[in-house]
Amino acid sequence: MSKIRMKNKIVEIDGDEMTRILWTNIKEILIEPYVNLKREYYDLGLENRELTKDEVTKEAAYAIKQYGVGVKCATITPNAQRVDEYNLSKMWKSPNATIRAILDGTVFRTPICVDGILPQVRSWKSPITIARHAYGDVYSGVEAIVPEGGRAEILMPDGSRKLIHEFKNSGIVQAIHNTDESIISFARSCFNYALSVKQDLWFGSKDTISKIYDHRFKDIFADIFEKEFLRKFTLCGINYYYMLIDDATARVMRSPGGFVWACKNYDGDVMSDMLASAFGSLAMMTSVLVSPQGQFEYEAAHGTVTRHYYKHLNGESTSTNPVATIFAWTGALNKRGELDKTIDLCYFAKALESATLSVIERGIMTNDLLPIFSKADVEPKGVGTFEFLRAVASEIDSHIL
Ligand code: NAP
Ligand code: MG
Repeated sequence: MSKIRMKNKIVEIDGDEMTRILWTNIKEILIEPYVNLKREYYDLGLENRELTKDEVTKEAAYAIKQYGVGVKCATITPNAQRVDEYNLSKMWKSPNATIRAILDGTVFRTPICVDGILPQVRSWKSPITIARHAYGDVYSGVEAIVPEGGRAEILMPDGSRKLIHEFKNSGIVQAIHNTDESIISFARSCFNYALSVKQDLWFGSKDTISKIYDHRFKDIFADIFEKEFLRKFTLCGINYYYMLIDDATARVMRSPGGFVWACKNYDGDVMSDMLASAFGSLAMMTSVLVSPQGQFEYEAAHGTVTRHYYKHLNGESTSTNPVATIFAWTGALNKRGELDKTIDLCYFAKALESATLSVIERGIMTNDLLPIFSKADVEPKGVGTFEFLRAVASEIDSHIL
C-alpha cells in the first residue's frame, strides 16, 4: 500500500521523559509506516528550552498559528527540583501556559471510552467534555510575599485606589486578571463546540462571592448566548445552563453525562483530572486547544509520567499507557485531513483509533487499566508499552477501509 500523502504540514512539538519515548515509538510503529508525515518539528524537551532560553516554545506556538494544526507531547513544567536536576538558568514557565497565552482559546478534554471500562460514577452513560478557559486567572497571576506593615492596593487608571489588605503581620498577596476579549472568545468557542457535538453546554462560576470578577464571566456568557446562539441552540435542540460552580459539581455527579462543561481556568484544571480518573484513567483523556481563529493543538491530558521514566532509565520495562498520546496524533491528523479535504488521512486516523480501542476490548492493555477493566468472556492481560504498541500495529490494517 502506498503511503498517505499530506497536503499541508502539522506542527510537531516534542517533549520530555516517558512521553518523549512514547512519542518516537508511536511515530515509528503506528504512523510513519502509513503516512508521509509533513511536519514542522519543535523540540520542547527541557534541555532545548534551556538552550534556546525558551524561545522555542514561542516559535512552536506561532507555528501553530501559521499552519493551523499542532500535536504536542507532554513537557516538564520546571519547579525548584527540576532547576537542580536539569541545571537550568531559570525556572522556565509552563510551555502549555506560554502556548495558551499566544493562541488564547479553549481547551476541550474528553475521556476516551472503551467497552469494558465502566465509569466510577454509576449514573454516567456518555462522556463529559470539559471546556477549560485557557487564559489568565491564577496561571498568569502575580504574587508577592508582603512584609509586616505592608499594604496592597489596586491602582485604577483614574488614580483611585482599591485597598486589598493592610498587613499587620507578614503575609501573601496574589493578583489575577482576565480580559473581556478572552472571555468573549471562550464563550464563543464553548457555544460553537456544543453546537458541533450537539450537546448541552453547562457553565459554572462563583459569581455570588466574586461579584465582579466571576460575575463578568456569567454576564458575558449570557450576553453572547442571547445575541448569537439562542436561535441556533433552539434549532439544534440543545440548551445552555448557568449555575454556581459548586452546584454544577454536585449535578455533574448525578447526571447521565453527554454534555460540555465549561469551566474557568483553575476549575477546568482540577475538574478535568477528576473526570479523567472517574471515567477510567488520566491516560485515557484527550485534550485539544481550540483558538478563536480556529487553530487546533492536540495533546494528552497527562504529564510526562516521571516515575515510569526513571524505571525505564534503570532498564526496567514499563507499562505506560500510550492511548491519549496516540489520540493526540489521530486528532491532529484527522483535523489536518478535514481542513485539507484529504479524506484518506481522516480514514487512517479513525482506523488507528479503532485499532487501539479494539486491542483493549480484546483484553490487551497497559497495567493502569487492568484494575478497572471488566468484560464478560474477556480475561484481561497487562502488557508493557511496546508490546501494546505492537499489538495495535498488527491490528491497523484490518481497520483501514
Ligand atoms: P503525570 O505525568 O500525569 O503522572 C502522574 C501519575 O499518573 C503517574 O506516575 C502514573 O501513576 C499515572 N499516569 C499518568 N499518565 C500515565 C500513563 N500514560 N500511563 C500510565 N500511568 C500514567 O503527572 P506528574 O507525575 O505529576 O507530572 C510529571 C511531569 O509532567 C511534571 O514535570 C509536570 O510538570 C508535567 N506535566 C505536564 C503536562 C503537560 O505537558 N500537558 C501535564 C501535567 C504534568 P503511577 O506512577 O501510579 O503508575
Ligand atoms: Mg490538572
